[in-house]
Amino acid sequence: MTRTEDAAILVLNAGSSSVKFALFRAETLEPLCRGGIEGIGSAARFGGAAGSKAHLFDGAVLAEGSSHEAATHWLLDRLRRADHLDLRAAGHRVVHGGPDFSAPVVIDDDVMRTLEGLIPLAPAHQPHNLAAIRAVAKAWPSLPQLACFDTAFHRSMPRLAQLFAIPHALTDEGLIRYGFHGLSYQHIADVLPDIAGDVAEGRVIVAHLGHGASLCAMRERRSIATTMGFTALDGLMMGMRCGAIDAGLVLYLIEQRGMTPAEVSEILNRRSGLQGVSGISNDARTLLASEEPRATEALDLFAYRVVREAGSMMAALGGLDAFVFTAGIGERSARIRSAIGQGLAWTGIRLDEDRNAGNNVRISADGATIPVYVIPADEEVPIARSVSSQVLSA
Ligand code: ADP
Repeated sequence: MTRTEDAAILVLNAGSSSVKFALFRAETLEPLCRGGIEGIGSAARFGGAAGSKAHLFDGAVLAEGSSHEAATHWLLDRLRRADHLDLRAAGHRVVHGGPDFSAPVVIDDDVMRTLEGLIPLAPAHQPHNLAAIRAVAKAWPSLPQLACFDTAFHRSMPRLAQLFAIPHALTDEGLIRYGFHGLSYQHIADVLPDIAGDVAEGRVIVAHLGHGASLCAMRERRSIATTMGFTALDGLMMGMRCGAIDAGLVLYLIEQRGMTPAEVSEILNRRSGLQGVSGISNDARTLLASEEPRATEALDLFAYRVVREAGSMMAALGGLDAFVFTAGIGERSARIRSAIGQGLAWTGIRLDEDRNAGNNVRISADGATIPVYVIPADEEVPIARSVSSQVLSA
């Protein structure tokens, strides 16, 4: 007999080196269990599970050196063997929805073919996302599945915000600014009214500052501009990625220095950002704890780039009503938030340093004209919400 109280939605978020999962109660979206497998490709390990269903993973050990496929199989196997778990639907984070998908989509064979066709646009992520969908289909052949895209939130951007100044024939082939981190931005757009009230409908900059980093300019909680572009390499400086640079520098490395595309890609995607500038680490925590001048310079440059790009987002918005920090650095580094706040003091942003040090939800000073918030990132909840509204209530 099915115990209806355990009817659940499964959410999978397969990243380049991790598989995160979450189970939500189907009726209420109460989280039942969350966890993840990290370090895939180097030293894969189960990072544990939290929540009322965490016991499903008691004593679980993941084989060392597991691939994405093995890690997903291991995870689904444990869920399949769980008593009192009645999976009703699954939702997936899929990095690229291309020019056509501006909302989550129920997966069928046609959709899978379209998503496979987008692999060249996100070769490091899309194959893992699609493999997770196939693995779930194999484990539960009749389970409805929904794809939720990192790009979809930005499809509301005006045409000019999506265009690069390149030949229009290339634009027509889909070489446009897609933007990423859309599920994180969707979550902020969903929760901001409860936190900020009416100001949520105004001109808001959201700074998603994690290993990957980007800004989104929102008006009426819709994206009108963003810093990431055709790929997730554009925009802000990141943990290992360079962010926006002169395209001529790429040509120089290839034409004058004789580098191969793979060598240039390695430099720009893995040996730049905090890692490259500091020469010490891609991890902000390590740099914050270091007294090396290069560590300080890397953090200073990180904040400077956020300030510069925030100015550009403000210009696109025509002003600013609120600023939101989210993701690892945004949620937890008072020092970096403070540096960004100082760089944006001309906008009216002024932080209360006690609130900032305490990672409070509202960190702006009383009387400051622009409220500033710290809101935890969550990419799984917006997926569960979409599954609930598009699959289970359909
Ligand atoms: P991802 O983009 O992989 O989801 P996160 O959102 O977890 O990453 O962000 C990772 C970044 O957050 C790392 O640079 C890490 O150093 C930084 N971070 C995490 N905790 C802290 C902290 N307490 N202080 C400063 N930075 C932190």
